[in-house]
Amino acid sequence: MHEIVVVDDDLEPRNAHELITDFENGLSIIFENLRITSVFRLRRSGKGKYEIERIPGAKLPKWMEQIEDVPRVPEGVYECLHCGRRFPTDIQLSMHTKLHYIT
Ligand SMILES: [Zn+2]
Repeated sequence: MHEIVVVDDDLEPRNAHELITDFENGLSIIFENLRITSVFRLRRSGKGKYEIERIPGAKLPKWMEQIEDVPRVPEGVYECLHCGRRFPTDIQLSMHTKLHYIT
């Protein structure tokens, strides 16, 4: 569960109401775009506080699973952090990495 605080208590009630409405609308658009409307729900837990809760049993959309399955660099392979090129030795990688700083 993640908590989000939207407004401080010292805002004028009318301004706070507008901000809250904008926040709820904005977040619902984000949820729709990310296709997570059926996976997470926004729950108001205080005057300007919300919690994002995962709906029990809801299946994560494919894109979220893909983020978790980021392919790891196999053992014995050295990958350049700048461009992703892979090398069989750390020496080759280090020589390659220098090129990024020269050019
Ligand atoms: Zn590189």
